[in-house]
Amino acid sequence: MESPILPGSVLGVLGSGQLGRMFAIAARRLGYRVHVLSPDDDTPTGQVADLEIRAAYDDLDAVAAFARGVSVVTFEFENVPAVTTEVAARYVPVRPGGQVLHTTQNRLREKSFLRAAGLPVTPFWPVRSRPELQQAIAQAGLPAILKTADWGYDGKGQVRLEHSDDVERVWPRFAGGEAILERFVDFACELSVVAARAADGTILTYPPTRNSHSRHILDVSVTPAGLTPQQADEAAEIARQIVTRLEVVGVLCVEFFLDRQGQLLVNELAPRPHNSGHWTIDGCTTCQFEQQVRAVCGLPLGAIRPHGPAAMANLLGDLWQDGAPLWQAALSDPDVKLHLYGKAEPRPGRKMGLFTVLASTPEKAEQKVRAARQRLSPHATDPHTPHRLALGAGEGT
Ligand code: AMP
Repeated sequence: MESPILPGSVLGVLGSGQLGRMFAIAARRLGYRVHVLSPDDDTPTGQVADLEIRAAYDDLDAVAAFARGVSVVTFEFENVPAVTTEVAARYVPVRPGGQVLHTTQNRLREKSFLRAAGLPVTPFWPVRSRPELQQAIAQAGLPAILKTADWGYDGKGQVRLEHSDDVERVWPRFAGGEAILERFVDFACELSVVAARAADGTILTYPPTRNSHSRHILDVSVTPAGLTPQQADEAAEIARQIVTRLEVVGVLCVEFFLDRQGQLLVNELAPRPHNSGHWTIDGCTTCQFEQQVRAVCGLPLGAIRPHGPAAMANLLGDLWQDGAPLWQAALSDPDVKLHLYGKAEPRPGRKMGLFTVLASTPEKAEQKVRAARQRLSPHATDPHTPHRLALGAGEGT
């Protein structure tokens, strides 16, 4: 095994959003320096990094110069072109490796990998033409979800089909690209497990988190998730198998549906820390971002050991619709912890920050985190009711 990358070294991050910011904060706490490359400037990551490089991901000279200036490259935004990681890998380790990105960047490759590994996955059919879509619907039944195979997150590039007539209406949006039809899962709840895998193959998994979404964007995460011990063990084992087979060095999140028969189905993989794991910043001995630092640097992983039940609520730009949110009111509960991402412009659907709360039960934690958010903007539209925001206008992970 390669020797570890020790504190004092420079870590490189591709992508400059909030996940990179929290990675950089964890890295700096451990005494590392951080360089970030993305097409933007004054970014959430750049604001806390030692060096912010503004360049397109396919500017390969800039990528090579960036890689020469760091000891390892990791990413917070996984949809970078394959050639970007190939060029970086000529100079330094890229962790997780390009093969992980290749699998997880495309829903068909990702779900085919899971099925071939014998892991439970939402039933799916590849769709490259209108007749293939009709055949797929005949097998999947309706309702079903049609998704683009590439570049999807937070419900972008997907549509629910209710009737066979919908094909005429939606197909033009998918024609010309690769798509995937998924059987609609009438789930009891959505869950996720964040797993960390060290360079020596050691794996640790965080306890499952129960996630509720609003307008396809993660809204609230709560842990413990209320699973039976068998279900929790099965979710952890599936996550272990995935990071082992993909040979991940870093952090990966597995998103699941729990169907009404109590069966777990994998919906999606994210080869990096995940929004549903942000509670770990205040809720565990070692958070998901510190694990990413430790793993990509070849250091031993830290103990996960949750401090107790926890909840996280996302703060979207909608909360600014009546002006500055009432921070004093929200923070009047001393158990509420605030994390903001340093974004100047609070657009509707844009992830601006989050609250976490630890409490004696998951129900109390959830109630306190929701109440704090409500106090921020008492007249804001209830995030659970659809309003002027167009579907899929959310941002980032
Ligand atoms: P995705 O971008 O695939 O994670 O989908 C975003 C959200 O859409 C998920 O978190 C679910 O709430 C919903 N969704 C996606 N696929 C399905 C499916 N096959 N059945 C039911 N709901 C789905």
